[in-house]
Amino acid sequence: MSDPTRTCLGCRAKAAQGDLVRVYRVDDGLALGKGPGRGAYFHTACWQRALPRLPRALRAQVDTSELASLLGEGLGKTSAEQFKT
Ligand SMILES: [Zn+2]
Repeated sequence: MSDPTRTCLGCRAKAAQGDLVRVYRVDDGLALGKGPGRGAYFHTACWQRALPRLPRALRAQVDTSELASLLGEGLGKTSAEQFKT
């Protein structure tokens, strides 16, 4: 079985889907993981680079702090705080 590959929105490298984080639109913002609708993939380490490209990828306004808290909660091991500017 091979993992499907996706392109990281941040570094543009192809990676196994399982190595990337998926973010997608929900009615009240953004969510991580599997879900309906338009999504984008990126490495956790690349999210800062992915961020400016997200509005276009998702066709949505993206709230930086929301994504930071999503990543912090969703990934646990990643401290979103360190990325805040
Ligand atoms: Zn990447």
